[in-house]
Order: sequence, then C-alpha cells, then structure tokens
Amino acid sequence: MPTIHDVVIIGSGPAGLTAAIYTARASLSPLVLEGEPSSTGDQPGGQLMLTTEVENFPGFPEGIMGPELMMNFRAQAERFGAEMHTVRASKVDFSERPFKIWVGDPDAPEPTHLAESVIVSTGAKALMLDVPNETRLIGHGVSTCATCDGFFFRDQHIGMVGGGDSAMEEAMFLTKFASKVTVIHRRDELRASQIMQDRAMANPKIEFRWNAVVTEVLGDQSVTGVALEDTVTGEASTMDLTGLFIAIGHRPNTDLFVGQLDLHDNGYLAVEGRTSRTSVPGVFACGDVQDDVYRQAITAAGSGCAAALDAERWLEAQE
Ligand code: NAP
Repeated sequence: MPTIHDVVIIGSGPAGLTAAIYTARASLSPLVLEGEPSSTGDQPGGQLMLTTEVENFPGFPEGIMGPELMMNFRAQAERFGAEMHTVRASKVDFSERPFKIWVGDPDAPEPTHLAESVIVSTGAKALMLDVPNETRLIGHGVSTCATCDGFFFRDQHIGMVGGGDSAMEEAMFLTKFASKVTVIHRRDELRASQIMQDRAMANPKIEFRWNAVVTEVLGDQSVTGVALEDTVTGEASTMDLTGLFIAIGHRPNTDLFVGQLDLHDNGYLAVEGRTSRTSVPGVFACGDVQDDVYRQAITAAGSGCAAALDAERWLEAQE
C-alpha cells in the first residue's frame, strides 16, 4: 500500500499553491498533484499561465506576467518542502479515510496515493461555443488563449467572442499582433467592467460587432471566417477572419468529484459557509472550483490559505 500523506493537494493554481505554502510551513509535507497540460486547456499553474500582465495582484506595483507569478508561487511552495508531481488525478474515493487518489489507470486495484486530508483546487476551464468546426480548428485559428497564440496572428484580422473582462483584456492583447480585432458580442452592451470597456473602445484596432452570435467556424485547413446570426433580426451573414478567440466564461473542473462531494446546481463545489469544508470531513476546497462569484487570483490565493488552515486544524483535532 502507498504511504499515507497528511495532505494531498489536487490542483496548482493560486489556491492550490498557497495551500501548499501554508501546509508546508506547518510541517505537513504536502503532496501537490499539479496537473499536466491537456488539449482542453488544462495546465499546471492554472489559468494565470494563459494570462499576460497581472496588474491587480497586490505586491507588484508594476504588474507581473501571469506565468512568472505562478512560477514564484511554485518556487515558494517547494522552498518549504512541498512535493510537486506533474500528473493529473484520475479518480478519487472519499468514502472512508485514508482517502484514496488514483493517478493514471483509474481501474487499477490499488490507489496511487493515500491521504488523511485532501485540498481540492482544480480550478475552472474555458467554455466553448459548441458550433460546427470549432473543435476541429483548435490550433488552426481557433483559440481560447490569446497569450499562447496571439503571436501567430501578426497582421491578421481576428475575431474575439465575448463581452466580459476576459474578452476585452484578450482583445487588447491581440492588437499587439493583429491588424484588426473584431469583438463579436451577443448583446449591444458589454458585461466587462467600465475601465476595461473604456480601454477597449479607445483602442483604434478594436471594432465591435454587436448583437451577433457565431453559428459556424468557416475554413477547411484553417479558419477563414465565421458565419454569424444577428440576435435581433435573425439575419445571417459571414465575416472574413483568420483567427477566432473565444472568451465566454469558464466551467469548474469538478468531474472527478461528482458522487463524492456535494456540488451546486451550476457545478461548483459546495463549501460550508465561509470555510473551505466540503460535504466530506477532511476534504477541503479552495479557488475557482468553489467560487463562481469573485474568481480572482487574489481571492483564490486567500481561499487556499483558508483551506490550509482548515486542514491543519482538522488534522490536529483528529489526533
Ligand atoms: P464573464 O464575465 O462571464 O463574461 C462572459 C461573456 O461571454 C459575457 O459577455 C457573455 O455574454 C458571453 N457569452 C457567454 N456564453 C456565450 C455564448 N455561448 N455565446 C456568445 N457569448 C457568450 O466571463 P469572463 O470575461 O471570463 O470573466 C470572468 C470573471 O473574471 C469576471 O468576474 C471578470 O470580471 C473577471 N476577470 C477580470 C479581469 C481583470 O480585471 N483584469 C480579467 C479577466 C476576467 P452576456 O454578457 O450576454 O452574458
């Protein structure tokens, strides 16, 4: 049987790595299953790995790049003895203690890890439009990550779907490369914060196509355009572009925990009041996987700290 860890942390965004720093400094020798890159946009370090400049994380008056910030988090956790495994958990069994966690084959008879307590910080991932050719053309013009892929669209016309802060931020980033970015939004009013709206609207390379949804991505080998439908008149049209970026929100990564932990109707993990306690004593949740309201790096980090303290106190109480 594998050895029993005091704490296993599943996920390595700001929440998971803050929990790792705190539990490591409390001599709980946390094991962090930090995830691995996947075609659906998962990556160790979480969503900040797909971000450019982070201007609102306190302590960095000049801002810091998202990936650099996450490398700092990771180095800080390792400095205090957190053990990092670049793998994904494939199954969990929280029905009894020690909790069981599988990596790799979920049908293997023995779990890979045993844990007295678990901190879940698996985050959330980008939503897609679910229209024809979208998935097929990912990496051939369709992207959910401006930071990763913007460079490939130098002097091209790019479409950006969405009307929130993410869409504005990514549209502005893309203007560094693109000749023009057209924001395609399904209403005639943006959801983004006023400051982001103002910046995007002041950018001469950004245009807006209001009241429109993408009904199909066009292109054989790569994106050549999109088919649009006007949400007011129902009129169909097409727009020529060579890149289509999608920023329409996120879905929590909770598939692993269905049937194990209580979830809200919207799929986010349920926690008790202001704590990080899930429906299973000894299992704690922090970060975007349990937060559909704030979803900021700093709130995720704060909740990671809370989860670490909750886990530490809970382990102490068990002894
Ligand atoms: P969001 O605020 O939920 O916005 C999603 C946008 O996508 C909305 O405009 C929505 O339209 C549109 N949308 C959703 N489903 C769609 C579909 N199927 N087809 C077409 N359009 C669709 O998501 P977000 O922009 O990712 O932001 C998430 C959170 O992170 C927010 O709280 C945001 O403030 C925060 N954030 C902050 C910053 C920053 O401050 N620097 C940067 C990024 C994100 P409707 O408006 O019509 O609903």
